[in-house]
Amino acid sequence: MTDRRPYVLLSVAASVDGHIDDSTSERLLLSTPEDFDRVDQLRADSDAVLVGAGTLRRDNPRLLVNSPERRAQRQAKGFPAYPLKVALTGSGDLDPGLRFWHHGDGKVVYAPSAAVPQIRARLGVLADVVGTGARLDPGAVLDDLGERGVRRLMVEGGGAMHTLFLTAGLVDEIQLAVAPFFVGEDSAPRFVRAGHFPQDALHRMTLAETRAIGDIALLRYLVARPPLTAADRRWLAFAIQESRLCPPSSTAYSVGAVIVAEDGTEIARGHSRESDPQVHAEEAALAKLAPDDPRLRGATLYTTLEPCSRRASRPVPCAQLVLASGIRRVVLAWREPALFVADCQGVELLEQAGISVLECPELAAEAREVNAHLA
Ligand SMILES: [Zn+2]
Repeated sequence: MTDRRPYVLLSVAASVDGHIDDSTSERLLLSTPEDFDRVDQLRADSDAVLVGAGTLRRDNPRLLVNSPERRAQRQAKGFPAYPLKVALTGSGDLDPGLRFWHHGDGKVVYAPSAAVPQIRARLGVLADVVGTGARLDPGAVLDDLGERGVRRLMVEGGGAMHTLFLTAGLVDEIQLAVAPFFVGEDSAPRFVRAGHFPQDALHRMTLAETRAIGDIALLRYLVARPPLTAADRRWLAFAIQESRLCPPSSTAYSVGAVIVAEDGTEIARGHSRESDPQVHAEEAALAKLAPDDPRLRGATLYTTLEPCSRRASRPVPCAQLVLASGIRRVVLAWREPALFVADCQGVELLEQAGISVLECPELAAEAREVNAHLA
């Protein structure tokens, strides 16, 4: 599944103080004609260009390849004149009168599945509308684009989109054009919003290129996706084995969890309904350790399903137990489907607290299969 996901290039122009616009309704001109030409080339080199609904509402862009020569070159290679245009919306608030829908070639909209019928009703034939599950899931967007043959995706903003893809660890490259002036307003939109970014002081990006384009400084960064090691896959496979030990249930998932210390040794494992009919796998594993066990600091939790963020049976959901434990890293096979819980926020809760969460889509099918009777 992952090898079909496109290469993701994030393109942004910002002021020296990191703003992508000011707070007036007029669009702030950060770039120069020369730099817009570079962006036009990037679009022409992409199979798809993506923006968030906020940017569509704010700037009403057409998002086209403007150069006729570049369009002709695309067509000569057998591609449509314009890359596929992609919009993401959390709320579904998309005006069919926006210029985005009425120029270019194919368009596709991704939204939480609950918003899909309303968007289809509003947009009609203007765009394909695809649901990404309980939430706006950038991984599901990339999977679907990959299946549509998109090999290279350009993310053009705004801040919510950049934050969504960067915090999910789904960006390969950033092209940041720095305009030589200040905006100087706290309320003006920024390149990214607050969040937990895999690229921090200890995990720096690679500066691949710096280029002067007139008075614009172009910085090209390569972003290493958070690494999932062979050992991670092995431990996650053990967690799936553990999930096969769960007493059968028609009302709850069978989940397995393994906790591994920083030195690579297993310190606990557990499965759903192991010690009582309500216990969850992560909880069962953590219950085998003293809460102040020093090996928990810096440990990794391998779990077949996203830790729960809400639960009916106990006061403390597993995501909170993990946060309290000192575990710094969570590797999971499968995100919570909206079967028993409407919208699991386990991953978001963990990431907001600075825990690095990695998904291993290669093992998702196997983890799901253990629960095939629930689907
Ligand atoms: Zn749980």
